[in-house]
Amino acid sequence: MTMKRMKASLVIAVMVLSELGVTAKAQRTSAETADSGKTYELLPGLDKRLIDTTADPCVDFFQYACGNFTKLYPIPNDRSSFGTGAMIVEHTQQVLHTMLEKAAVGSVGRNSNEHSNEQKIGDAYAACMDVDAISQKGLKPLQPELDRIAALKSKDELPELLAHHQLIGVNTFLGFGQQQDFKDARKQIAVVDQGGLGMPERDYYFRTGEAPEKTRTQYVQHIANMLKLISEPEAKAGADAQAIMKLETALAKVSMDITSRRNPNKVYHLMPVSELATLDPGIAWGRFLAASGAPPVTELNVTNPEFFQGLNGLLAATDMETIKTYLRWQLIASIPGYVLPKAFDDEDFDFYGRKLRGQPEQKTRWKRCVQATDAGLGEALSQVYVAQEFPPASKKATLQMVKDIEAAMDQDIDTLDWMSSATKVRAKEKLHAVADKIGYPDHWRDYSSLTIARDDAFGNGLRATEFENRRQLAKIGKPVDRGEWLITPATVDAYYNPSMNDINFPAGILQAPLYDSHASDASNYGHIGGVVGHELTHGFDDQGRQFDANGNLEDWWTPEDGKKFDQKADCEVKEYGNFVAVDDVKLNGKLTLGENTADNGGLRLAYIALLADAKRKNIDLTKKQDGYTPIQQFFLGHGQSWCGATRPEQLRLQVQTDPHSPRQFRANGVVQNMPEFGHAFGCKTGQPMMPVNACRVW
Ligand SMILES: [Zn+2]
Repeated sequence: MTMKRMKASLVIAVMVLSELGVTAKAQRTSAETADSGKTYELLPGLDKRLIDTTADPCVDFFQYACGNFTKLYPIPNDRSSFGTGAMIVEHTQQVLHTMLEKAAVGSVGRNSNEHSNEQKIGDAYAACMDVDAISQKGLKPLQPELDRIAALKSKDELPELLAHHQLIGVNTFLGFGQQQDFKDARKQIAVVDQGGLGMPERDYYFRTGEAPEKTRTQYVQHIANMLKLISEPEAKAGADAQAIMKLETALAKVSMDITSRRNPNKVYHLMPVSELATLDPGIAWGRFLAASGAPPVTELNVTNPEFFQGLNGLLAATDMETIKTYLRWQLIASIPGYVLPKAFDDEDFDFYGRKLRGQPEQKTRWKRCVQATDAGLGEALSQVYVAQEFPPASKKATLQMVKDIEAAMDQDIDTLDWMSSATKVRAKEKLHAVADKIGYPDHWRDYSSLTIARDDAFGNGLRATEFENRRQLAKIGKPVDRGEWLITPATVDAYYNPSMNDINFPAGILQAPLYDSHASDASNYGHIGGVVGHELTHGFDDQGRQFDANGNLEDWWTPEDGKKFDQKADCEVKEYGNFVAVDDVKLNGKLTLGENTADNGGLRLAYIALLADAKRKNIDLTKKQDGYTPIQQFFLGHGQSWCGATRPEQLRLQVQTDPHSPRQFRANGVVQNMPEFGHAFGCKTGQPMMPVNACRVW
């Protein structure tokens, strides 16, 4: 019930799970499939059924820890990948589904003046589920937006339309929103970013080879098919699709690649609005800003000045008809398929789901409607979810774990032989300033001004997106709310935000097997301890280390220590850059560096915390319990966090767009760098999981 692109904010927060952290493209309706009805229980912290005892843990630990997972749980047809995290997601969706069905029944016939959260989530869910009403309306809800584009007479009228598109989540030409000022984290400022592409990332327009070329051909066909669905004649749709591809390719050419965008200095150019107007005089920025919904703006971050110079030339060189065709395409591409007639939904899924991700079938409607309600009314839904599903004991146990891991990092910094004491003082200053956020926010978001109608799925989506975008923009010039969360409490993920210098663990991720109150401490340290350590280490990876204790982009390292860090990190760039994900596609060692550093540092911190915990409790970590020593259970916990499989199309997409390494490399890459693993499993130096040259940053 939101547009596909919703949040008008630029945050470089780093998540732990790629399969869950990325907002899915809209997906189509389908009949109930066998997979949609399956119920998923939560797995235990250590699940021996998953272990392939015929594999040698010293040769391929992932195979050993997870070898039986896909035999027991093959990838369902409505997914492009499946694993430990996805299983928690499926389980959580079923819980939310039951809650929403109840809320939807409860909201029938209620006085419409009662705008309670429960009524809103019930109505939003019911409207999304009402396939008959959606297909009866057909394209009518879209018509005012199409008319608005048709009415454009000249390029001079573009600023107001572009501003309107930003508010309703349409990705035409650029992105506009707010962010915390990288160099003064107390301030919230406006930001204008590159945008306007329909494929996942700029390099999709330029890569050579059979697979990338095929994807481009399929993309052009997809654009033509979508245009035909808004009544363009076949020949015109084909020619228009080519013109759109040409325009997007030119936009891509002046866009920055995804790896460069990880560097905060490369996407930070604070300037007065007048300077942006000089870079890109083709857009009347004063009028754009006045129509944008933002408070008065005098300066803003222009992430990529070269993009706006390029956009200026491009708009000048493109005729009005082509621009209007492109605007129509971006409009229909931004609307989630489930609020449109089935033919749109099917076509959208065919390209973004089946072809790009290799997903055989669309998810059943209730799953998409649960996701949509979470995306649009997340904190209203989560308020009910948390009360029902998140016991105070889980919050308490997680807080203890977080404190243990932070103490481990404090201790770890003391032992680093490569870091000077001056940098150590600053590192500890930053560590001690990290804010821990667990479970759910202290203050819930107020949705009282958002109108949700039980018979208007399309309008609900548009209004929820505009509500969220206006909420983001209203922050400009105001003090930062440090209690705010970027993801909803029911989300199975976690993140570190360098501008806030906080680590965030929503209720959704604090479930078995990641946190299992019945499992051994060792297994929990390997699972959720590794996740906590991962987020904390993000504050000190190649990106996070550039921000200080207050969340400001400021170099607090001595030049020698900075150089040593880069050398150590380079070992991981090479290690992961040599892993082959699919066919001849290798991992991008630089794109995944931050995540890999966080995985490696995170598990080491969890290990240090485990040793301290065992000492406190007088536990012998080398004595077998239940078939495995606690140290082996710790590593199995880590390994089993990543069980599962990914379809080849999705793997290709992941390697080319996602900073997270695929699952097997997350499991094995880390243990290869921990000789403690080799000792625990009796490996010999030189075996694959115990190489002679291990990498270590933290
Ligand atoms: Zn991460």
